[in-house]
Amino acid sequence: MRSPEDELAELEAASLRRHLRAVDSPQLAHTQVAGQSLSNFASNDYLGLANHPHIKQAFIEATELWGTGSGASRLICGSLPPHRKLELYIATSKGTEAALVFANGYATSLGALSALLRKGDTVILDKLSHASLIDGARLSGATLRVFPHNDLNKLSKILEQTFSKKSTDARVLIVTESIFSMDGDHAPLADIIALKQKFGALLLVDEAHGLGILGPTGMGLAEQLDCAKGIDLQMGTLGKAAGVAGGYIAATKPLIDLLTNKARSFIYSTAPPPSQSHAALVALQLIRSPEGSKLRQKLWNNLQTFADATQTPLPASAIIPWHVGPSAQALELSQTLQNTSALLVPAVRYPTVPRNTARLRITLTAAHSTQDIQTLAAALLHHTA
Ligand SMILES: *Cc1c(COP(=O)(O)O)cnc(C)c1O
Repeated sequence: MRSPEDELAELEAASLRRHLRAVDSPQLAHTQVAGQSLSNFASNDYLGLANHPHIKQAFIEATELWGTGSGASRLICGSLPPHRKLELYIATSKGTEAALVFANGYATSLGALSALLRKGDTVILDKLSHASLIDGARLSGATLRVFPHNDLNKLSKILEQTFSKKSTDARVLIVTESIFSMDGDHAPLADIIALKQKFGALLLVDEAHGLGILGPTGMGLAEQLDCAKGIDLQMGTLGKAAGVAGGYIAATKPLIDLLTNKARSFIYSTAPPPSQSHAALVALQLIRSPEGSKLRQKLWNNLQTFADATQTPLPASAIIPWHVGPSAQALELSQTLQNTSALLVPAVRYPTVPRNTARLRITLTAAHSTQDIQTLAAALLHHTA
């Protein structure tokens, strides 16, 4: 039998071993790691809401009112007012009949895909879809097809093949992200919607990295492109730009009812703390308020500062991939930036990204100062020249 030590040694040899980084301060633009203060370019807290005074206050007040735990799963006795109000607010903001909230985004992907699909159905994913979506697709037992990243010719071919032989009641679900988590680029949502309508497939779009960043009220890429009506299942997480935790699906009432009945990660799991849902509600309200617009503007100004300083195009989102290639080299660059310039910029490697496409994953937030970004740009240019 293989030993855990052997397996770890293999990972080590391939520069694929991972270690927990002990962070000793709150999630802010500057963070304390092993006694060193680092500029934090690793966080998905894009608007700096994870330490916002109003959201912290909301969390505390909801705890005073509702206690720390929900006591049971939502279907038993855990369906408390903060959860229901959050779902109502998400549905209203997304322009859907209903919404369902899960403990986190991972549980949302797993629960939703395995509930919607079964053996005989087909799920068609963009190649760069997040691990949680792939896991949910596998768990469902449906036939899994993958199209090369944003390649709609290939998607169209797969749809043609699938619909030419599918049984009448089989479901076909297209799955994509709006903003891709490791590349920061956009999906061509309008064209995907046109295809799904042409064939009569369903479409799920994960806005994990679009929420808070894009759209007039920060609801994501679908809001920005004004195409939310063409998406059957609008998914997202409340743990990134919203600065709290949780995952959601916004959809028609029958689809939400079906998930409530069949999503096992929803049914067989204690409801998240009521304070989590209340804080997430306040965070979403803030994202949609004039203050949210200001934070978005600040984030986009920061992205422009980065583009100017590195003489690169304006990034498409808060995520900037700095391509390196080999895993060992990406790790080394990340370490050099930490040692020489006090920068926290994580290397991402296989299996998070395809083999030999290791990179630094830089995330900018509204909380960074111009100076933080100038320092980052100068260090990147200096060490990758
Ligand atoms: C982070 C992420 C998730 C998971 O959300 P969590 O709330 O962190 O569990 C799902 N999908 C995508 C695209 C993500 O980036």
